[in-house]
Amino acid sequence: MKNLSVKIRITIWLTLLMGVLAGLLLAFMLFISKMVATKTAMSQLSQTVQSNLAQTSMPNDRLETGSDFKFYRNGVSTLIYSRDKALLAGRVPGSFTVEESFQNGLIRTVSAGNEQYLVLDMWLPIGWENGVWLRGIMEAPENRQLALNLLLVALIILPVFMALAAGGSYWIAKRAFRPLDNITATAASINEAQDLSRRIGLPPGRDEFSLLGTTFDQLFQRLEKSFESEKQFTADASHELRTPVSIIKGACEYAEKYDETPEERQETITMIRRQAERISLLIEQLLSMTRLEQGTELAHLECINLNKLICSQCEEIPHDSQRLLLEIPENIMVAADTALLSRLVRNLVENAFKYGRPDSCVWVSARQEDNEVILEVRDNGIGIPYDQQDKIWQRFYRVDAARDVEGGTGLGLSIVRQIAQAHGGYMTVESIPQVGSAFILHLPKPAASTNA
Ligand code: ATP
Ligand code: MG
Repeated sequence: MKNLSVKIRITIWLTLLMGVLAGLLLAFMLFISKMVATKTAMSQLSQTVQSNLAQTSMPNDRLETGSDFKFYRNGVSTLIYSRDKALLAGRVPGSFTVEESFQNGLIRTVSAGNEQYLVLDMWLPIGWENGVWLRGIMEAPENRQLALNLLLVALIILPVFMALAAGGSYWIAKRAFRPLDNITATAASINEAQDLSRRIGLPPGRDEFSLLGTTFDQLFQRLEKSFESEKQFTADASHELRTPVSIIKGACEYAEKYDETPEERQETITMIRRQAERISLLIEQLLSMTRLEQGTELAHLECINLNKLICSQCEEIPHDSQRLLLEIPENIMVAADTALLSRLVRNLVENAFKYGRPDSCVWVSARQEDNEVILEVRDNGIGIPYDQQDKIWQRFYRVDAARDVEGGTGLGLSIVRQIAQAHGGYMTVESIPQVGSAFILHLPKPAASTNA
């Protein structure tokens, strides 16, 4: 039984259950029909004997029966006995060969050979001392024929019924288990083809299989995302690390081959250190992007004061205090992850300084609109060409003119956009080449506004 499929097991159980139920129903029908037949026979016996009793009299010690007196009616033979149990009138049924004592008004079953009889005696008193017995005898209703008929019908119908039950329950089980077959087939095909983009795609519902299918789809989606970002990370890392690593390798080979002056050596060391710093920054940025993408770094939102957060971040960025101007009202609260929002602010302010001119300024301002909190980082730096303003959010994208600016990985704005999305917000940019740029963060207002 353990090796059988659940569908077959369900079918066997249901078919057996049907068989047992049908058997019980048959037995119940036999019992009920026997009871009804016996009750009917008893009432016939009682009615016949009582009606004959009303037609019996004994004027002047002579037995007289009325015109409605019937010695045989409805299968009931009526006999009249004297007080001394001598048969006065009527005929004993041929096979009723037993001596049965008289009991007034009690119907009982009497066996005579193979036959069963119902017997009812009634005493008819005449005068003070005399009287006669009326005895009604009828064959007990025969149930054997009915039982045989029922058995015959059952033998013909039961196999058909069981076959129908087996077929029906297998069909229902197969239909019910179809979603599970789909799940198994999809999981197997994903395994064989190593294609995580496939989905089970069961229609939405509240039954167990729909929930299981949806859970599996979510799992596949997560796995696919995780595989994709792992692939992306490997590709990005190997592509972006190649240049600084080959610069370091080249510098080392040159230093080994040629006798460098102390100044040249110092230059080589400085270059190696710069490239190492670039590698370390790249790895840090790539890791945080991957974590954000995979959802391993989740935004833990809490209500924070925007003014405090921005002031403390700007303090950490080395800058000329004349060039950084803050316009943040003190009462703006946002639902944000402190670490992530700090990283976002730092990236934008660093960019504003990096792509500004030596004398340009950076303005950081915030305001509240209908449903949003707006944070703006504006500069009057080199600006971004119009045709590249959409592309700056892509990973590793750097505007050509900015390539001269050292230390950039081209990942900063991708991270900024992901952080905005992790907070349920989005980024926009407004920039005029050679005039300046404004990077604007739109955050939803916290649900229970706790503006102080
Ligand atoms: P990093 O990963 O170190 O931040 P990055 O600054 O080059 O490197 P992003 O911050 O993603 O990378 O910026 C992408 C590009 O967008 C920059 O290379 C630059 O060309 C342009 N850019 C970003 N901010 C500004 C700005 N305030 N003014 C002008 N151009 C900008
Ligand atoms: Mg940057």
